Amino acid sequence: MNQVFYQELIQIIPKQDVLLEEPMKKHTTFRIGGAAEYYVAPSMEQLTQVLTLAKKHGIIVTIIGNGSNLLVSDAGIRGLVIEIGKAMSGVRIEDRKLYAEAGTLLSRMANVAAEHGLSGMEFAAGIPGSVGGAVVMNAGAYGGEMKDILVSATVITCEGELLTIPAEELDLAYRHSCVPEKNYIVVATEFALQERPQEEIRALMEDLRKRRVEKQPLEYPSAGSMFKRPEGYFAGKLIMDAGLRGYRVGDAQIAEKHCGFVINCGNATAADVLQLIDDVRKKVYEQFQVELEPEVKVIGD
Ligand code: FAD
Repeated sequence: MNQVFYQELIQIIPKQDVLLEEPMKKHTTFRIGGAAEYYVAPSMEQLTQVLTLAKKHGIIVTIIGNGSNLLVSDAGIRGLVIEIGKAMSGVRIEDRKLYAEAGTLLSRMANVAAEHGLSGMEFAAGIPGSVGGAVVMNAGAYGGEMKDILVSATVITCEGELLTIPAEELDLAYRHSCVPEKNYIVVATEFALQERPQEEIRALMEDLRKRRVEKQPLEYPSAGSMFKRPEGYFAGKLIMDAGLRGYRVGDAQIAEKHCGFVINCGNATAADVLQLIDDVRKKVYEQFQVELEPEVKVIGD
């Protein structure tokens, strides 16, 4: 541990909130992952100070949101993990615009929009991520995606500058944005919504919720769809047709209920999941000559 860095870090964030050797399985929906050397979940004000401090000491920074699209390695993450979460989750509505800090959960945002009779966010209500993570991934479901409603995102650049970027300049495409390659940190977002009767919004959200419960193995830890949808195919169907339903490596398994999901049946390790991904990609390629590309981000040492 870098003692000087640590001593300065606890001047910014109360000591009890600076977690050392923190198991990442506590912070990922997959419930997998080794320890983060340092783990903090700062407010906006603390964030800028923490970034400056990490830069000064040459500490590597990893940004996470709600950890719902992550596979963290068993060796964990050296350096500082910054969660953009609850401490950055203010939401407000003005006219038909919704402004949300990046740590706001999509479910909360969709509910606030619904309360105000604003439509456009229904598709996101069941995605278990933060707004920041959803912008990074251009998260989408049931025909909607962030790209359709996002007006702009405010980011912190590598130089520590705050920049508000129009959505058109974020290179939003299927499960892609330019945020990772530019090393931006999303801190706030603006969305444009439309007025609609609240009962209709609620009915649509309820319908989509039921469809998720029916189709997805939500009773197990996972990171959602493991693979991106290959052009012209569905990953889950290819995996099923390759005879891999229920295929297991250690405690990692292709879900019986939905072959696009890899689930953690108990004590799966990242190594189990990576081996399973490898096996599935090979088998699907052998049978259908289709390359499956992971949607889940693999991070750590
Ligand atoms: P994380 O998983 O924490 O991070 C994802 C990536 O974003 C990482 O690279 C991280 O470094 C980066 N990141 C996170 N926050 C920031 C930030 N503020 N600034 C810069 N970089 C950041 N996804 C869909 O698109 N559609 C679905 O229908 C869907 N269903 C799911 C169902 C289940 C049961 C689960 C477990 C996952 C599902 N997902 C789905 C995947 C996941 O919820 C989304 O990708 C979500 O948007 C990720 O947000 P997060 O906050 O959890 O990000």
